[in-house]
Amino acid sequence: MDHFSYHPAVSDQDPESRTRLVEPGSRPDLEAALDAVNRDLAATWPEAGPMRLMWTPSDEEDVPDQYHAALPDGRWHDGVTNPDAAGIAEAAQETVQAVLWQVWPVCPEHRTGVHSGAGADERDVWWCRVGEGHELCAVGELAQTLPRKQRRALRRKERGREG
Ligand SMILES: [Zn+2]
Repeated sequence: MDHFSYHPAVSDQDPESRTRLVEPGSRPDLEAALDAVNRDLAATWPEAGPMRLMWTPSDEEDVPDQYHAALPDGRWHDGVTNPDAAGIAEAAQETVQAVLWQVWPVCPEHRTGVHSGAGADERDVWWCRVGEGHELCAVGELAQTLPRKQRRALRRKERGREG
């Protein structure tokens, strides 16, 4: 079986693998964090998402469980232990970079990859490290950084989905 074939049912995945989808509702904090990342993917790179939260339970007492941000087809790279919102955003970036070979998201001003981190008011933000560095936007609000024309097109698309 091709583990990486597109859209494998979760039940089709390698029975040897203990990695599975996180039960919806069991980690609302991490789900909210990934939702924010998915909003940003939908705004800037809809083909890549939405990503899903997966985890690999540890079978050893002193080894913590690992959490992963997986692409829609189940591929992921690396895992985070004891993740918080910024950790999930970072895991999503890791997966995008390692699996899709893309730097994401990109600062529109400096054309360089930005990184998740804590902003001035404790929100998780995308941070651009060029020069003295600057906050691009809160994670989940990447749509606001798009040129007006692209923002309008996005809103039209969202309305189309709802209607
Ligand atoms: Zn920048």
